[in-house]
Amino acid sequence: MISNVTRGSEPREELLERSAAESPRVSVSWIAAIPVANLTEDETVDAIDRLIREGGSHYGVVVNAAKVVTANQNESLKRVLLEADLVTADGMSVVWASRLLGGGLKERVTGIDLFQQLVERAASRGLSVYLLGARDESVLGTVERLKARHAKLRVAGYRNGYFDDNESESVAGEIRRSAADLLFVAMGSPGQELWIASNLSRTGVRFALGVGGSFDHVSGLAVRAPRWMQHLGLEWLHRLLREPRRLWKRYLVGNLKFIWLIAKQLVSRNG
Ligand code: UDP
Repeated sequence: MISNVTRGSEPREELLERSAAESPRVSVSWIAAIPVANLTEDETVDAIDRLIREGGSHYGVVVNAAKVVTANQNESLKRVLLEADLVTADGMSVVWASRLLGGGLKERVTGIDLFQQLVERAASRGLSVYLLGARDESVLGTVERLKARHAKLRVAGYRNGYFDDNESESVAGEIRRSAADLLFVAMGSPGQELWIASNLSRTGVRFALGVGGSFDHVSGLAVRAPRWMQHLGLEWLHRLLREPRRLWKRYLVGNLKFIWLIAKQLVSRNG
């Protein structure tokens, strides 16, 4: 999907060329060497629609500051992001960074919102979905709530996200046998992204997306931040206030590393 690159340090020319040829319409902002699509949520859903109609298997990734930092330390995750058909900004700090770098992203496109929009579209188009990830009560609760919301939704299958690496092949085989069109994987990052990239072709789905803790929220097992906090991009603060002991250090260190990466990019661009 990568084309009309706005700015930044472009790491893989060959990928750029290949992707630009595939979808010339989508422009990206480079955020610490990660190409983030400059699309609104509705445009993202339309772009995914096009990928689905194109045939073959595709996948998307949503990124927040933590994932950008991890990708800069973990070559496997970075490759998965560079080879994704679509990367969108899950975190407000990624949108702010893009503005600072001059290639302003239009808006944030979160995993959970994208998940719910794609499910709605799947229901209206007759496409089937498979839900992989979270604990049993969470994934089952999500299936029930989605079916209650969308009477026509076809759920091809679901399973929890707790299995060993050596079971991945049989999990992917189960998804293939379900003939699902769309796959949502809620197993946390970067595990879900790595799982999708290594198993996508085995699953045979048309489009896969990693959706983090979305099943816990949709099932009602975890509480999402109030709307006003979501609008201000303060979901991270909501999480931090709920679990301060576990998260404060992760947030502080992660955000400092993210700021450092963006500062380096600003300096190298201006230098
Ligand atoms: N999870 C899973 N398998 C694992 C580890 C985690 O299915 O081996 C699930 C977990 O139950 C939760 C989700 O992955 O529903 C991770 O949520 P979190 O909010 O931590 O993800 P993030 O969005 O921060 O990556």
